[in-house]
Amino acid sequence: MQKTSIEWCDYSVNPIKFRPFGSQFFTNMCQRRSPGCQACYAESITRRFWPKTATVSFPGYTAQGIAAGEFVVDEKQLLSVLKHKKPCKVFWGDMTDIFGEWVPFTMIDKCMAVCALTPHITHQFLTKRPEVMLKYFSNEIRNGGVTRGIIEEAYGRPARFFPSAFDMLPLNNNADMPWPLPNVWVGTSCENQKYADERIPILCQVPAKVHFISAEPLIGDIDLGYPKTIWPNGPEMCCSGRECGCQGMPIEPPLCYGLQLVICGGESGPKARPMRYEWAENLLNDCKRYGISFFMKQLGSNVFQNGEHRVKRDSKGGDMSEWPHEIRVREFPEVSA
Ligand code: SF4
Repeated sequence: MQKTSIEWCDYSVNPIKFRPFGSQFFTNMCQRRSPGCQACYAESITRRFWPKTATVSFPGYTAQGIAAGEFVVDEKQLLSVLKHKKPCKVFWGDMTDIFGEWVPFTMIDKCMAVCALTPHITHQFLTKRPEVMLKYFSNEIRNGGVTRGIIEEAYGRPARFFPSAFDMLPLNNNADMPWPLPNVWVGTSCENQKYADERIPILCQVPAKVHFISAEPLIGDIDLGYPKTIWPNGPEMCCSGRECGCQGMPIEPPLCYGLQLVICGGESGPKARPMRYEWAENLLNDCKRYGISFFMKQLGSNVFQNGEHRVKRDSKGGDMSEWPHEIRVREFPEVSA
């Protein structure tokens, strides 16, 4: 676990590692999923530190990359989370996608066991594959909770290994932790309307206290009301509004139904794709309308407002003093125990 400059968390941890064939070194690996992956910083860092002893040169965050080695749990990374005794926010997997199809669920069990053992920490999981996340969290075995059984299976001899951590849990012989774990937040990335329409409804089915989206890099306008790619002419309405007394309500709830947090950010870097300031403003206004917390991370390197380049000093658009006042919002949802 290491300190991070990512504004919406305090630390990041990457326990799901990759060992390229022919190498003894751990590195990271992932597979690009959608246009939001185009300027993946994790991929550039992994490229720079790719082990020289590997049997192949760096194949990129691709299917070939995934096939070029094996995935392992870095126990040292994982257990470093247990040492942290103060409340904080931890982002799991900023160098990969922990819910990649290639990650065995038993490895994710180990991560969840650590989350169960650290109720004072908020654990944030973000994926571009919410369908895999839903499958994991809806699994019958795991539905019963993170049990002593799961923890023991994950670690072999955990009760002896972490006696003090176990003291923190309301565990008895058949001990169950609440499921979903109240300190686990689940999120999905949505770079434009298409991916918001596809991913948000799946994410919101994942049993969790907090569902969030990361609209970064924001490369298109997103309406959190009604999925435009599904209903380009507006949602199907219940009736004219007079027949049943509904006052003209759409049949389906808004797209964001079930979301508690929206994180927004423009792309950074020399080849950053443009973000129109109005897109961020629209998300903020939707959040106000639907009662969702909003967190403006950065405006990005290539943000335009009324056709003019907005950011002058900070290359990432991360200096709040350069932002319009109304967008200087960094909220988190209140979570009841
Ligand atoms: S899912 Fe995340 S880590 Fe994986 S390629 Fe895309 S941006 Fe990079």
